[in-house]
Amino acid sequence: MNDFIFKDNELYCESIPVKKIAEEAGTPFYLYSLATIKRHFKAFNESSKIMDSIVCFSVKANSNIAILNVLFKLGWGADIVSGGELFRSIKAGVDTSKVVYSGVGKTAGEIEFALNSDILMFNIESMSELHLINKIAENMGKKARISFRVNPDVDPKTHPYISTGMKKNKFGINIKHALESYEEAKKLNNIEAVGLDCHIGSQLTEVAPFDDAVKIIKDLLLKLNKKGFNIQFIDLGGGLGITYENEMPPHPSTYMNSIKDILGGYKGKVIFEPGRVIVGNSGAFITKVIYNKSTGHKNFVIVDGGMNDLIRPALYEAYHEIIPVIKKTGSRVKADVVGPICESADFLGKERTFHSVDEGDFLAVLSAGAYGFSMSSNYNSRPRAAEILVDGDKYYIIRKRETYEDLIEKENIPDLKL
Ligand SMILES: *Cc1c(COP(=O)(O)O)cnc(C)c1O
Repeated sequence: MNDFIFKDNELYCESIPVKKIAEEAGTPFYLYSLATIKRHFKAFNESSKIMDSIVCFSVKANSNIAILNVLFKLGWGADIVSGGELFRSIKAGVDTSKVVYSGVGKTAGEIEFALNSDILMFNIESMSELHLINKIAENMGKKARISFRVNPDVDPKTHPYISTGMKKNKFGINIKHALESYEEAKKLNNIEAVGLDCHIGSQLTEVAPFDDAVKIIKDLLLKLNKKGFNIQFIDLGGGLGITYENEMPPHPSTYMNSIKDILGGYKGKVIFEPGRVIVGNSGAFITKVIYNKSTGHKNFVIVDGGMNDLIRPALYEAYHEIIPVIKKTGSRVKADVVGPICESADFLGKERTFHSVDEGDFLAVLSAGAYGFSMSSNYNSRPRAAEILVDGDKYYIIRKRETYEDLIEKENIPDLKL
């Protein structure tokens, strides 16, 4: 069930040898399979249909407008966390009536942009934000649809940097204050509280933490109903995990069935915000071996892609499988696969055992389609990598490799008296 497969000894993406693309486009680059994206879309979408639901793709997982365009054309909306993501989504053809906006630090300018775009709703993360949105909406003569993002204080059992629904996290409204928050919203003329939201973290590989959160949400929903609030949308966020190494995440249908059972007689719509589960395994990061280096103490394979391109190993100690694009034979080595950046955290894989590779060989860093390019930077003044989308026997450059000129394009040397 993968579109990155070996035929004989050569890695293909769908019907194209990866080596051919690497030779034509240069390295490093992100390579995505359209077939994988469509398959993951379908699995999630069909599962979500057991409820009256809206799926909003989490733009931060992969923000390329070509990929967004595919998901929007197939019928999904967007889960955004900034004005920049709203801009991208609009350029990629989103139906703004299916846009939900999360994030703890929405600025006045971003709020105005979102109100002008008539998005579905703001997921509110603080009372200060609620009041600012009310004020801006009033000035614009509009009513803002909102939900409160509540923090249910459940442990998603994932890496601490990607857990968001515990009381120590900065996200959401303390569940204990949820009712008063809705009461407060009711007093505001330019706010319409239509939803209830939570997102507890990312890369969850068990259903139990989701279930715990949904039970807490259901409980709150019943209390809100009793007080006469009309909740039309329950937004359950994203977070479904993928296999990087040997994780066994639940299938979307297992997750959805469980949610449906817990929500029981709820009559409104359910919103999902998947990111990683749709695009994570649809992408690989392709890089070239520059040098083999042995310090006598350790072996290093130095490649032309680094932490500026793919920061997950450095940031979360995340594991990505790394395989040669042409299968190797012969002696095996244990080595760290590292980039050219001047940081000790600049590694793509540690202590990996594989057939020794030669300088000039291409390597594929798998499961890199989510939080890969979208988290990349120009650190060490490295032009950002290209992004390429494969569809069958064709490939498309969906983002050109940056140039040196791009690096300094926005910079300016003032005329200083020195
Ligand atoms: C990041 C994020 C998501 C997507 O998370 P995945 O783990 O990629 O599914 C969804 N909703 C919100 C609010 C987020 O911050």
